Amino acid sequence: MTDENARTLCCDIAVLGGGVSGVTAAIAAARQKKRVIIIEQGDFLGGVSVSGLGLLGFQDREGNTIVGGIAQELIDRLKALHGTLGHNPCPILNSLTPVNAGLIRLVLLELCKEAGVSMLFGCIPTQALVHNERLCQVRVFGKGNFFDVKADVFIDATGDGDLCSLIGLPFEKGSPDGELQPASLIFAVSGVNKEKLLKYVEDHPLEVDTPEGYETKVAPEFFRKVNGYNLLGLDACIRKARADGRYNDIPRDRFSLITYPNDDTTVINNTRLTDFDGTDIWQLSRGTQEACRQIEELIKFMPAYLPGYEDCTLSFIAPTLGIRESRRFVGRCCLTEKDVREGLIPSDTVALGGYNVDIHHGCDEGSELYIVHRAYGIPYGCMVPEKMNGILFTGRSIWADRVAFGSSRIMGTCMALGQAAGIAASICVQTKCEAGQVPVEMLRRLLIENGAVLTIQ
Ligand SMILES: Cc1cc2nc3c(=O)[nH]c(=O)nc-3n(C[C@H](O)[C@H](O)[C@H](O)COP(=O)(O)OP(=O)(O)OC[C@H]3O[C@@H](n4cnc5c(N)ncnc54)[C@H](O)[C@@H]3O)c2cc1C
Repeated sequence: MTDENARTLCCDIAVLGGGVSGVTAAIAAARQKKRVIIIEQGDFLGGVSVSGLGLLGFQDREGNTIVGGIAQELIDRLKALHGTLGHNPCPILNSLTPVNAGLIRLVLLELCKEAGVSMLFGCIPTQALVHNERLCQVRVFGKGNFFDVKADVFIDATGDGDLCSLIGLPFEKGSPDGELQPASLIFAVSGVNKEKLLKYVEDHPLEVDTPEGYETKVAPEFFRKVNGYNLLGLDACIRKARADGRYNDIPRDRFSLITYPNDDTTVINNTRLTDFDGTDIWQLSRGTQEACRQIEELIKFMPAYLPGYEDCTLSFIAPTLGIRESRRFVGRCCLTEKDVREGLIPSDTVALGGYNVDIHHGCDEGSELYIVHRAYGIPYGCMVPEKMNGILFTGRSIWADRVAFGSSRIMGTCMALGQAAGIAASICVQTKCEAGQVPVEMLRRLLIENGAVLTIQ
C-alpha cells in the first residue's frame, strides 16, 4: 500500500480527513492490525484541534468522565510534554481541556506512526466508484496526480462529509431554513497580563457573561480556582470600542478568550462569518480574507480596550478557517434533541456526549447554550448510512438533529466517535461483513477493552 510509485493504493480501511475524528478512527483501526491510510487535504493532522482551542466534552456537567480511550491517551501524552492544562471543570462548558496547538499536532502524528497508519497529505477525493450500492474505490488528486484508493471500508472524517456528498448520500445542512452556525478563524496572542485581566473582572463582575437559563452566575473568583478557563464577556469594553469606531463589522458582542498552556498566551475566538456556507469554495475563499481582516481589527482593539492586553502581540493564527456546521448525513439512527436532553444511553451506544447544546446564530451576534445535565449515548447507527455499503461517517457529520448536533459537534465527542468508527470498520474487514451488520455487542466490547467510556456510574 505504501509503494509511493503506485497509482492504485490498496488497503483495508481508508480514512478521508485527518482531523481529531479521522485520526482516532485510523489509530483505532490500525491497532486492530488493519492496513489503514489517512488521506488529508492539508499537510498536517488534527484539523480544528490545532487552532489552539481547548478540547470540550471529556466530562459531563456532573463531573463524570465520559471520554477515554485514544482521546485520553492523547491528553496523557500532552501532559508529559507540558502541552495541556488537563481537564478543568467549567460552570458554562462543563469541562475544558486546553492544549498546545503545536504539540497536539506532533502527538497525533506520533500516535499514527506508532500504530502504522499510512498518510497521504495534500489530496482530496475527486471521483468514486460505486458498485451494487457499495463504495469500492475513490480517486484522489494531489500535486497534479491522481491516485486510486481501493479499500474494504472508507471512513468519511472530512467534517463536511465531502466523500459522502461526492457519492450522493442524503444529508441535512443547518436549520430547516438553511441557517448555518457561523465560521471563525481562531488566533492567539501572547504577552497577556492575566493577573490584570482577572483583577478587572473581579472589579467588574457584570463583565463576566453567564448564558440565560444557567442556575448559577459565574463568579469572577472562579477563574482563579482552575488552571484552564474560557472567559466570556467584557461586553462593556466592546461597546466602548464600537462607540469609538474601533470594533468594526465584527458580529460578536462578547469577548471569548481561552487559556493556553503557555502562561502569557490566550486564544481568541472572536472572528465571526455569518450567513456563511463552508461547503462553498468561493465563500471559503472570501471568508478566509474577511476573517483575517477581523483579526487585524481585533489585534488593534485588544491593547487599546482590554485590561491586561496592553502589551499583547499576535502569536499564531489557526492554519484553517473553523467551520462549525455543515452537512449531517442520514444514517440508520438519528441522535435527537430528546436523547440529549433526557440523557438517554441506549444499548447500542458507541460513544458518550455530554457537552451543552451550543448553537451560535448564523445570522447575528447571538448564540444559544442549553444545559445538558448528564451524559447521553450516541448509537452506532448514527455513523452508518441508510443504504450505501463500504462507508461510515464520523465526527461532525454524523446523523443528528440540529439541536443534538449543537452538543455532539465538539472535539472530545468527535474523538470518541472516531474510535468507534475505526473499530467498527476493522470488524467489517475481519468478519467480512457490511457496516450495517456489525455486531454492536462485539464493537462495544472492543471499545471498552480499548479504554472507551460507554456508561456512567
Ligand atoms: C470556530 C470553532 C470553535 C470551536 N470551538 C470548540 C472548542 O472550543 N472545543 C471543542 O472541543 N470543539 C470546538 N469546536 C468544534 C470542533 O472543533 C469540531 O466540530 C471538531 O474539530 C470536528 O472534528 P472532525 O475531526 O470531525 O473535523 P475537523 O477537525 O474539521 O477535521 C476535518 C479534517 O478533514 C480535512 N478535510 C476536509 N475536507 C477534506 C477533503 N475533501 N479531502 C481530504 N481532507 C479533507 C480537513 O483538512 C481536516 O483536517 C469548534 C469549532 C469551530 C469551527
